[in-house]
Amino acid sequence: MSKSKIDRKTLKPATKLASAGREFAEHGMVNPAIYRASTITFPDMATLKSAKQPYIYGRRGTPTSRAIETAIAELEGGFDCRVAPSGVAAITTTMLAFLKPGDHVLVTDAVYGNTRDLCNTLLARLGVEITYYDPVIGEKLRTLIKSNTKMVYLESPGSQTMEVQDVPLLARIAHEAGAIAVLDNTWSGGYYFNAFAHGCDISIQAATKYITGHSDCMFGSVVCNETTWPRFQEAYGLMGLFAGPDDMYLALRGLRTLDLRLERHMKSALVIAEWLREQPEVETVLYPALSNAPGHALWKRDFTGASGLFSIILKPTTNKSVAAMLDDMDLFSMGYSWGGFESLILPIQPIRVASSWAANGPALRLQIGLEHPDDLIADLARGFKRLNAAT
Ligand SMILES: *Cc1c(COP(=O)(O)O)cnc(C)c1O
Repeated sequence: MSKSKIDRKTLKPATKLASAGREFAEHGMVNPAIYRASTITFPDMATLKSAKQPYIYGRRGTPTSRAIETAIAELEGGFDCRVAPSGVAAITTTMLAFLKPGDHVLVTDAVYGNTRDLCNTLLARLGVEITYYDPVIGEKLRTLIKSNTKMVYLESPGSQTMEVQDVPLLARIAHEAGAIAVLDNTWSGGYYFNAFAHGCDISIQAATKYITGHSDCMFGSVVCNETTWPRFQEAYGLMGLFAGPDDMYLALRGLRTLDLRLERHMKSALVIAEWLREQPEVETVLYPALSNAPGHALWKRDFTGASGLFSIILKPTTNKSVAAMLDDMDLFSMGYSWGGFESLILPIQPIRVASSWAANGPALRLQIGLEHPDDLIADLARGFKRLNAAT
């Protein structure tokens, strides 16, 4: 693979997924080895002093880490990537790399719960000023910019309530103010939304979700553009971050089938979202890929596909009837996270401080897995029967 003369930028995304990072495999193996390393030895003092050896210490990179980092950087079209032991670690490191006491950060009000907790505790204690903004604020973001605004943090769509953000516009407003635009790009798998082409400086993923894809690994990734890379890389090193080699391998193995899996997730999710929209128990389906759903126009403009995660709002009903539905599902399980091969269903209670969340009834988040959609629809239909019987 390393001898290839083609310009990889011209390759189609699916081809990149199947071939990216393979130059780090040796001896003709298709896949890189799982290197377990702390000490890496040097042949002589001159090499040690010159610091020119490609690998110098376990935490500073191995062929296993460079393979997955190179592959994710190429998948997302960024300058380079570092991987972390979880999505949360990736987010925390990025925030700490670019924010210092006295700085101001604008954070989407539909942000992932742990990111909100990070802002309200650790960052607030460090003297970072935080303002939450309505995820669909648009041009009005300008009114929230301050002289000390250093970062605009985006998550699109919001992983519970699915608001699609006008990323190019918000990133432009950030840049005009001298701030950077950082995106939590987990929902698209970094595959269906090109963060850098839409103006972002950094794209973060909870690679725990679609990249890994099998619910068996915690993993995070941060891809930077060339401008933000040095400062991020410095913070990553200083905080001593690295991921386990087995998890790096699992992430790389998952990434190879991302195109196939996402295509199926989307196909099934669309069938099920359309069916749900017709059900009398359902008030609203929040799936940006669904025509007429909130955020559909922006999704169509900026995304090349959709993943299998969406939410629904039920018509007003009791907790007891929702429990009757969820407690006895056969194929959908209740559990956190998503992006694996299996379907999940979860009651959600969105937190809002800067925008409104208008739902008269309970909200559920569904991750549509790789089971056949007919079986999943039958499972949901039996669930609605239980819900109605318990009302
Ligand atoms: C799951 C998730 C995270 C956190 O990732 P972990 O790997 O669980 O730490 C961050 N952002 C979003 C949108 C997520 O869904």
